[in-house]
Amino acid sequence: MRRVALYGGTFDPVHNGHIAVARALISFFAFDAVSFIPAYVAPHKRAAEVASAFHRFAMLALATQDEERFRLSTVELEAPERPYTVDTLTRLRAKFNDSTRLFFIMGADSWEEIKTWRDWEQVLTMTDHIVVARPGHTLRTDHVTPAIRARIVDLCGAKADEARRTLGASEEGRIFLTDVVTVDVSATQVRRAASEGRELRSLVPAPVAEYIRKHGLYSNRLKGE
Ligand code: ATP
Repeated sequence: MRRVALYGGTFDPVHNGHIAVARALISFFAFDAVSFIPAYVAPHKRAAEVASAFHRFAMLALATQDEERFRLSTVELEAPERPYTVDTLTRLRAKFNDSTRLFFIMGADSWEEIKTWRDWEQVLTMTDHIVVARPGHTLRTDHVTPAIRARIVDLCGAKADEARRTLGASEEGRIFLTDVVTVDVSATQVRRAASEGRELRSLVPAPVAEYIRKHGLYSNRLKGE
């Protein structure tokens, strides 16, 4: 069975944390592909948008082009109105055949807020999920219902062969917690560094740093930060 991971996010911009997570999960869980899914921003919110969807997409294209197993999905950008994750997973589930097992990747910060997602309990049964540790956030389990908690598989500290075996033996619809990779980089940090004219190469892939500089992205102090 093929294993495909879906990595949704704003990617404003994509950074070394995203790339390190995707690479580490490919080798840890033997994923066949990781598909980056940049989020749609509603027209009425576009004025407040930091980089446009076009720039966000272009930076993702630059960051993913050299990695054979990285894919880029336009499913959310092409939607007529803002899709929630539940809508996106419904569409993607229909697109992939039954011989593909889908995994949705999220960081520990997103997991902490999972109950604010539309139809969150349904979202957690539609695919498997991989929750990745992130500095400053704990991989908690006490905020979800007992039924969901029963589907959590804690792989913190596990070796790759154990993780793959566990994943292969488990029923679908599990939530795997992993600390196989922890990277202290956020998009907020990148935008701030860019707005202060600082060097970005330790934060984003080199072509993304060059793109941000060339197009003057994030050069004004951002609203709300
Ligand atoms: P911002 O700083 O603007 O909130 P971000 O760095 O969290 O952005 P997003 O594009 O919002 O980046 O993240 C997409 C997904 O990737 C989310 O599920 C988020 O939790 C996860 N993620 C982002 N950075 C990391 C990281 N360093 N380690 C683990 N997960 C991460």
